[in-house]
This record gives sequence, C-alpha cells and structure tokens, in this order.
Amino acid sequence: MSPSTSKIENYPNLILFLDAIPLPGVIIGTDEFVHYANKKARDLFGDLIQDRHYITVMRDPEVSDAIEAVIKDSDTRKTRWATSLSSVDLVFEVHITSIGSQHLLVTFEDSTQVEKSNQIRRDFVTNVSHELKTPLTSIIGFLETIQTTAKNDQKAQEKFLSIMSDEANRMDRLVNDLMSLNQVESQERSKPTTKIELTELIKETVEKFLPVCKKTNNSVVFENLNEKLQIEGDLDQLQQVISNLIENALKYGGTEKEIKIKLHTPSFQPLLQKHGVVLDVADQGDGIPDEYIPRLTERFYRIDSHRSRQVGGTGLGLSIVKHIVHRHRGRLRIESKVGKGSTFSIYLPIE
Ligand code: ADP
Repeated sequence: MSPSTSKIENYPNLILFLDAIPLPGVIIGTDEFVHYANKKARDLFGDLIQDRHYITVMRDPEVSDAIEAVIKDSDTRKTRWATSLSSVDLVFEVHITSIGSQHLLVTFEDSTQVEKSNQIRRDFVTNVSHELKTPLTSIIGFLETIQTTAKNDQKAQEKFLSIMSDEANRMDRLVNDLMSLNQVESQERSKPTTKIELTELIKETVEKFLPVCKKTNNSVVFENLNEKLQIEGDLDQLQQVISNLIENALKYGGTEKEIKIKLHTPSFQPLLQKHGVVLDVADQGDGIPDEYIPRLTERFYRIDSHRSRQVGGTGLGLSIVKHIVHRHRGRLRIESKVGKGSTFSIYLPIE
C-alpha cells in the first residue's frame, strides 16, 4: 500500500463502522500516530487525540507494549488499562487488532463495574468464611478439651457444651440469614402480588415478641390508624421485615423501654411518587450517629461488632430488610438521634 492509500479517509466505510460501534475506538497507523478516533474515544481522551503519537494519548506501559507488539507481528492482543478520569477510577479492557497492513484498531471496553462486582463477591466470601470460621474454631477447640483435659470434669463439660450450643446456634442463624438474603436477592425483580392484611400481620408478629419483652421488661405498642389495610406483598417476607426491626429495637434499644410501632394512614408518598403507607418502628435506645446510618444496610456492617455478636446479631438483618422492601417497590428510611433513639420507617406502595 502506498502512503496515500494508507490514509484513513480512503476507507469511509471503516469510519462509518467505527462511529457506529458502542465503544471508544481508535485507529492507529503503523507509523504509531492516531489516524482516527470515534466520538466515544474523543469523549474519553479529548478532542485533540487525532494525529498524536499513541504513547502521548494512553500513557500506560502495558497498553503501549501491547500496541507496539501488534504493530510488529499483527497478532491480536488484549490488555487491562486502569486510569482515573475526573477523579473517578475506571478500568478498561483494551483490544488491539490489526486491520490491513497499515492500521490497528484499538477498542476500550469499560469493565469498571465487572471488576467492582468481582471485588464485592470476593469480600462477601471472605466475610462469610470469617463469620463461620470463628464459631467453628471455638466448637472444635471445646470438643478437643472435652475429649482430653476435661474428660472427667462434668462441670466443665456442661459449661463447654453450653458454649458450643450457643456457637452452633450462631452458625445456624447466619446460614438462615444467608439463605434469606440469597432468596430475596434472586426474587428482587418480581414484585409479590398476594393480598395481605397488613394490620393483622403486624399484630401477629408483635405477639410473637411478647415473651422476650417480658424477660427484659420492654413493651411493644402498636399504634394503628387503620381499621384494615390490604396491600400486595409476600407474607413471610413482610413478617421478616417487621420481626427484624422489632428484634433490633429490642437488641439495641435497651431494657425497660417502649418500642412503638405505628402504621400511618395511607396517603400520597413523595418518596415513592405514589400512594402508599408508612410503618415506623421506633425505639428509645442510644441512637445511631449520622455517619453510620448510610452503611447500616450493607451486608455484615455493624457499628459495634462485639455488641452485635453478644446479642446474637449476624450483621445481615437490615440488608435483608432493605432487599425485601425493594422487592415490594418500597423504601427504607432511618432516622436517629443520639441519646434519644432510632426510627426505622418502611414505605410501601398501595396500588
Ligand atoms: P445485626 O445482626 O448486627 O443486628 P443488622 O443488619 O440488623 O445486623 O444491623 C446492623 C447494625 O445496625 C447493628 O449491628 C447495629 O450496630 C445497628 N443497628 C440496627 N438496628 C439498630 C437500632 N435499633 N438501634 C441502634 N443501632 C442499630
């Protein structure tokens, strides 16, 4: 090919094609200069990319090495490019392919989200393993002690068996919560449609907590502003939401306190942009400092891990609540005043 035929303008179809692909795409000549950059590539590198040496555009040793290698042997290559644009960290998969003998096509596929999801998955597995490993290590340790040093010590055996039972229950709660979370996450796209009498469900759920309340001298008061209130939902999951919130109010709200549950009259909810009902679960506990509130629904996030474990927490309760509420196309809002208490409010749409 003569120098004039190597000009990219001589291949109008190639330019049309490049402008049509939904990725940043750059044509580099074997002379190492940028011959053409589509709109998405200009958005990424700036409008002045054209006719510059590729090294001054990408400024990444791995990308440069890969381009250099394709110029040499024409074999397609793939590499990763991590960069920061307007202080946002981005990761691209860069594909470099030779087209004809004079040009290369370099495309940039944004893999930031994929890398983030992979990281979240890895963190999740690390957390689950850690949460299971701690009670398991304790059980194994006490079993060994019972089989050896405490073989003939009945009193010690009883004490250790009781600890082992607590630890096994902790693992059981964790596995149950993990299964709930998994189930509700997989169902999140399908909105439940069973007709549910919400006031009845709340009453029944509150009753289940009465024996626990008696032990700690707590009371649960249900203020209901509706005769009957029917909504579309998933009975078990809504019961789990109410239970988790009451349980937390009991766990973190202190003893000898009142937990107030209020079901408001349905009205237009700006938060949902439609008609809906609000359910508040309010405690008189220590409250939650503002900076922690946005993180409470993250899996395994606890303000005080030691306290959460002591009261039997798994760190998954509010994450489950959030996913169930989202499945019902609702929202969760948390308001808290340090020293006064916290209110967890569920907004549910009524069709
Ligand atoms: P856990 O099993 O640890 O209770 P959750 O997901 O239910 O997990 O809650 C996450 C964290 O949020 C808790 O560890 C606790 O620090 C905080 N939290 C939840 N509910 C309340 C509440 N009513 N008052 C104060 N802190 C709370």
